[in-house]
Amino acid sequence: MTFTGSAALRERLTAVCASPYLLLCSDYDGTLAPIAASPDAARLGAESATLLTTLAHATNVRVAIISGRPLHDLQRHSRLEPPVLLVGSHGAESSHTAAALTATQQSGLTRLREHVAAMCAGVTGSWVEDKPLGVAVHVRQADPRAADALLAALQHGPATWPGVYATPGKAVMDLSISARNKGHAIEQLRSDWGTEPTVLYLGDDVTDEAAFRVLGPTDVGVKVGTGDSCASHRIASDAEIPALLAFVHACRVAGSVESR
Ligand SMILES: [Mg+2]
Repeated sequence: MTFTGSAALRERLTAVCASPYLLLCSDYDGTLAPIAASPDAARLGAESATLLTTLAHATNVRVAIISGRPLHDLQRHSRLEPPVLLVGSHGAESSHTAAALTATQQSGLTRLREHVAAMCAGVTGSWVEDKPLGVAVHVRQADPRAADALLAALQHGPATWPGVYATPGKAVMDLSISARNKGHAIEQLRSDWGTEPTVLYLGDDVTDEAAFRVLGPTDVGVKVGTGDSCASHRIASDAEIPALLAFVHACRVAGSVESR
């Protein structure tokens, strides 16, 4: 399997793999697992799962999957196990830390759930995913105009409430009582490690921009697919991810890269 990314990207990946400590972070849906009509149908390929697990076992390498999915859902779907680190709810839940809600947060969460459920009730094809710290409203299967109207109503309604943090995605609006984003997740992973790792981040969605923004000049961000991005590099689609991971594996673990 040959990675056909640009020469510039291959050069940067090779440099990242030569750093003393490597933190490989990736989004899940649309990056590791192809987007499916329903989140339940999205699956991580066996090839990528094996490469991620092997890399996570390598010396001075950490691998973290950072997703908007609730942590339990990410664990169930990806079937990835330690030492692969899993971070859910855009960084608000991780497999290595836990958080408790205050009474104010709990009542705010209940109000948010009830209000959003009522707003979505009349929109065919929309559905509300309950998450530990909020809700995600999915409109992928709704009529496009009704979907846009619902997303706008959420943006001008609950998204403006004090203590509610909105994260728009592709055909989804995430409303959370946690201000954590994927950039915070990376900063947390860096500080948990207690080293200064070089970060490689892979992501396809607007929520991944928070991660790309915290990357430094020696880190590498790879935007998957189309859309504006502040990532330093881009690949055409998630179909290239297994080959990219194989390239990183060859550089870092096998210590060799195909010359093509
Ligand atoms: Mg994604």
